[in-house]
Amino acid sequence: MAQDSEHFRDSIGTINEDGKRAWVYPKKPSGKLYEYRKYVSYALLLFLVASPFIKINGNQFLMFNVLERRFNIFGFPFWPQDFHLFVISMIIGVVFIALFTVAFGRIFCGWMCPQTIFLEMVFRRIEYWIDGDRGAQIKLDRQEWNAEKIRKRTLKWFLFFIISFLIANVFLAYLIGSDRLIRYVIDGPLQHVGTLVSLLIFTSVFYFIFAWFREQVCIIACPYGRMQGVLLDNKSIVVAYDHKRGEGENGRKKFRKSEDRNALGNGDCIDCNQCVNVCPTGIDIRNGTQLECVNCTACIDECNTIMDKVNLPKGLIRYASEDEIVKKEKFKFTPRLKGYTAVLFILTGILVGMLFLRNDLEATILRLPGQLYEHKPNNVISNVFTYKLINKTTKNVDDVHFKLLSHKGNIILVRHEDFDVPAQDLSEGTLFIEINNSALKDDKEKLEIGVYSGDKLIETTTTSFLAPRSYK
Ligand code: SF4
Ligand code: SF4
Repeated sequence: MAQDSEHFRDSIGTINEDGKRAWVYPKKPSGKLYEYRKYVSYALLLFLVASPFIKINGNQFLMFNVLERRFNIFGFPFWPQDFHLFVISMIIGVVFIALFTVAFGRIFCGWMCPQTIFLEMVFRRIEYWIDGDRGAQIKLDRQEWNAEKIRKRTLKWFLFFIISFLIANVFLAYLIGSDRLIRYVIDGPLQHVGTLVSLLIFTSVFYFIFAWFREQVCIIACPYGRMQGVLLDNKSIVVAYDHKRGEGENGRKKFRKSEDRNALGNGDCIDCNQCVNVCPTGIDIRNGTQLECVNCTACIDECNTIMDKVNLPKGLIRYASEDEIVKKEKFKFTPRLKGYTAVLFILTGILVGMLFLRNDLEATILRLPGQLYEHKPNNVISNVFTYKLINKTTKNVDDVHFKLLSHKGNIILVRHEDFDVPAQDLSEGTLFIEINNSALKDDKEKLEIGVYSGDKLIETTTTSFLAPRSYK
């Protein structure tokens, strides 16, 4: 029987027998789930495009400025000093996706992944609009270059380029910040040739991905796709073909009017191949869960339409686990899921706690390397320090000065007295701390220093102070 063949395992769906790329011409999807996916995609596209332009307390909502090592996540600015928070956020993201994958398979790929959304909901829909549905696309591809083909290809490639260019701009807004991007646009591209070149490189990459590489990203390049084999088990809910029902006793058979399929022992699958034709990764879901399946649900919609037409119950392809199909078991919260959920809660708790404990102004005061201490008149010991103040807010911090909180003594700034720390910037300098020997109990004393803005204590920090051994 065809369904017993393991031939499909010999190669991935988009490579033909000669080892060449088998171009996929998926049928235009339609159905209830596709409609839902459209709404989800519109919302996510809006989120993706708007996020770099939304400000919270003056901070860009999402920004990943790798070059300057500045990140904003949900309006919280992260500096290199907050890298641990950034790492925890990333770990939470990975655990979150892993948890969902264990429970619901590649639901992220089908419904939320930017690659799927842009490809299926933007580029592919332009293609359907210009080239037509599957049959028309195959015909156009095979036909000689004539006026119609030149017109359609030129229009399609031009639109693909424009959209890739817009995506590259949004991408750049995430990287360098939307304010800077807008400033560059107003200045004109010739004022920022380097940025223009980067923009064109990004545009070419997006164009290459969406015009040509397409589903290969999910099949070959995406590391998340490769993890499926480890994360999925028989209890994971995935887009699945109900092989028990579809194959029956005698396997799938073509549909014949007025036949009694039950009596004949035929499965409910009428072998119409529509689920294969509609698949954007070119696979046959009836072969079981496969690496290439991005859980886009197009085959569910398509099969439901067919089932409607032949008066059979819908859901031959549906969201289901292997255990549900074979053993009729319902979804269970397995120990593995409980473990992932516990880890997720703990990490989220740690992150929230750290975010609350994080200060808007971070102060570091360190002894100048290689320097010991200096004796001053009146039995005073002096140490020299460097200070660094990072203002993570969007407002200037004015009239900043330091006070010794733990000891009696003086703090003397080298260059100036009170100073300002500009918004989202840092201030560095050198200072001396002078303490009378009578106040020192150890040769290495821990000091607590307050950072004040005017009269307001805004941060405390500690540092160590060296004194001669005789003071022990
Ligand atoms: S669309 Fe449904 S009936 Fe048609 S081949 Fe696929 S599983 Fe069988
Ligand atoms: S098998 Fe179905 S769900 Fe999976 S990628 Fe193909 S059409 Fe989408």
